Amino acid sequence: MLPPMTDQMKAIVVERLGPPDVMEIKDIPVPQPGEGEIRIEVEAVGINFADVLAVAGEYLTRTRVPYTPGMEFAGIVESLGEGVTSVKVGQRVACLGGSGALAKYAVVKATGIIPVPESFTGAQAAAFPVSYFTAYHGLKTLGRGQEGEWVLVQAAAGALGTASVQLAKAMGMKVIAMASIEEKLQLARDLGADVTLLQDDPDRVQKVRDAAGGKGVPLILEVVGGPRFQESLDMAADQGRVIVIGNASREQANMRPVELMKRNLTVTGLWLTSMMNDREATVAAAQALTPLVASGQVTPQVGPTYALAESARAFQDILDRKTIGKVVIEPGR
Ligand code: NDP
Repeated sequence: MLPPMTDQMKAIVVERLGPPDVMEIKDIPVPQPGEGEIRIEVEAVGINFADVLAVAGEYLTRTRVPYTPGMEFAGIVESLGEGVTSVKVGQRVACLGGSGALAKYAVVKATGIIPVPESFTGAQAAAFPVSYFTAYHGLKTLGRGQEGEWVLVQAAAGALGTASVQLAKAMGMKVIAMASIEEKLQLARDLGADVTLLQDDPDRVQKVRDAAGGKGVPLILEVVGGPRFQESLDMAADQGRVIVIGNASREQANMRPVELMKRNLTVTGLWLTSMMNDREATVAAAQALTPLVASGQVTPQVGPTYALAESARAFQDILDRKTIGKVVIEPGR
């Protein structure tokens, strides 16, 4: 295997946790693949809200510094560590690692790679795994969504939101999409949403209930949290399922469990990282997604792309709710 041209590379380094401007671009050593690992030349890094929270020190797991962010990416296999036979040098792959992708090269376990359709660009491959597997588990594995049933998708023009709208429509569900501005609602409609509503509409609770036949929504993908969590409960139909997937508001939600009894509601948490440990569920999701991708029924919605040196701006744009689709950083640019 040929070594890379130099032993140093550009990477984003976070030495203290905080807002996006704690991210600095530095020269660090090129990582070496150990036994069972591969080194990938990173083409595109999909930025998730989780990355923003991790840099801020607000994620579900503790962020240890110094570190290089970037958990979801795609690139070209550049060299193989000892014992790796499952991939070939020159192959494009997508990966879900813990961190380290905001750099020219990243090293991951060979078992951690995700095959991607040849038709995908690097940016599409980097925009796929987290959003689409999470959407599938929210709609189906945990949400038990049925054909013809209504589902409420919040932040519907975001990375997870666009994946959820597309997937719900592919599953024959009826979609109510919420987002903060009209331009975002237009994208949701273009992707097939049946009803769209501004998320600050003063009558949103009643309008959502009315849209779903006056009875409320049987399935809600809840990503905003804070005071909006109670609204999600209010929008739910009797026996409705509310899947807690995120907390974009970064505010605390108060829940009185007794409230759930009144209308037989179910609240379920969903974290993709721990769902990935359920091999059966992961294989089922992959089997469901593969034909939908192949037929073009679902296509990753790549949003704004940024160079590595613009990483802090990309993160800030997500926080400022300026982005539509999946934010992608391209270290090779
Ligand atoms: P997005 O691309 O959807 O960007 C975040 C979006 O959240 C914004 O565009 C904005 O949409 C919306 N939002 C709502 N309220 C706020 C607020 N107060 N401040 C900032 N943004 C707000 O990001 P992702 O697709 O990465 O993530 C969407 C949500 O799903 C996040 O909460 C994330 O943590 C969660 N998630 C969870 C996963 C899991 O495994 N549990 C996996 C993937 C995502 P708008 O302007 O339309 O309101």
